[in-house]
Amino acid sequence: MISFNVPPYIGEEEKYIEKAIQNHKISGDGEFTHLCSSWLEEKTGAKKVLLTTSCSDALEMAALLCDIREGDEIIMPSFTFVSTANAFVLRGAKIVFVDIRPDTLNIDESLIEDAITNRTKAIVPVHYAGIGCEMNTIVKIAEKYHLMIIEDAAQGVMSSYEGKALGSIGDFGCYSFHETKNYSMGEGGAILIRDESFIEKAEIIREKGTNRSKFWRGQVDKYTWVDKGSSFLPSELNAAYLYPQLLNAEKINQNRLGSWNEYYEQLKPLADAGFIELPSIPPECVHNAHLFYIKTNSLSERTKLIQYLKESNIETVFHYIPLHSSPAGKRFGRFQGEDRFTTSISERLLRLPMYYGLSSEDIATVTQSIMSFYRFKRN
Ligand SMILES: *Cc1c(COP(=O)(O)O)cnc(C)c1O
Repeated sequence: MISFNVPPYIGEEEKYIEKAIQNHKISGDGEFTHLCSSWLEEKTGAKKVLLTTSCSDALEMAALLCDIREGDEIIMPSFTFVSTANAFVLRGAKIVFVDIRPDTLNIDESLIEDAITNRTKAIVPVHYAGIGCEMNTIVKIAEKYHLMIIEDAAQGVMSSYEGKALGSIGDFGCYSFHETKNYSMGEGGAILIRDESFIEKAEIIREKGTNRSKFWRGQVDKYTWVDKGSSFLPSELNAAYLYPQLLNAEKINQNRLGSWNEYYEQLKPLADAGFIELPSIPPECVHNAHLFYIKTNSLSERTKLIQYLKESNIETVFHYIPLHSSPAGKRFGRFQGEDRFTTSISERLLRLPMYYGLSSEDIATVTQSIMSFYRFKRN
């Protein structure tokens, strides 16, 4: 059986978790949380990075930091995970969905301006597959209309756009360390903060609305409730699992990119012959091989291909059910303009097995099975 995903594991995680236990510090913000945050700050150039319990929670923190309220409108693609929208719906906002680009499956930046009203507060670009959105255009629009940018960079750790780390370009960036992502702590994430002036408020929100972070640093002599907040800091045990992966981030990244390139090379003849479509990477983007997808010709063809691969013991999956056509999406959002690509691509997209340590042999098995499904012979 070739699994779709295997959680990342470098082999040193136990050692670090044991150290966390011996430190007698297993709640949040101990040695390993700080090591992970510093590593991420160094890598991304963000003014501050705070580890969180998930990317969903990082997005919720961003919504609180942006002071999103009832009736505010938030612009994002419909082709994304539910958390992108939930974070803002929880604050009473209305979601305005915009179509995606057929090449990167990211929000079509040329359609954003049309979706802006006097209630719009923020744009949430989602860097699908770890491939950057057209951020220069998005930043210009945000400046022109005084909007916040929250990057959903759940899939974008170690990716960049014009040399800048994804997640570090907007006001806030949100990373995921879920077990399906490139680097993992089981469940977890991080919020990247670009502007220093938001750091204190972010620390308060993350620590149940208290000034505990300042208290620990000796900057105040009382630990007390000062603002709205929740519990968004992860356990040290989880941070200790993540840290050795960050230390080996380059190795993990190169391994994934190697797999990605093998898929691409082996499937290119099939794509050139017009049977499927392959992903495209804009020249200004460096990606992280978060996922490898192909586009089939139709929903029924995809259904048959999934079944065919399953019979060859290959697990493949698809996503996303477009948010605007989901029950909650209909209640909490609206689609601006025409849905030219969101639904049609979501029906044709298929994700192939991709994880750290996936063998070349397995990749060859997958690509050969796909070619035999199409009765395609390489010459
Ligand atoms: C995985 C993912 C999330 C959610 O991440 P969690 O850490 O599981 O909360 C949000 N947005 C996108 C685009 C994702 O891929």
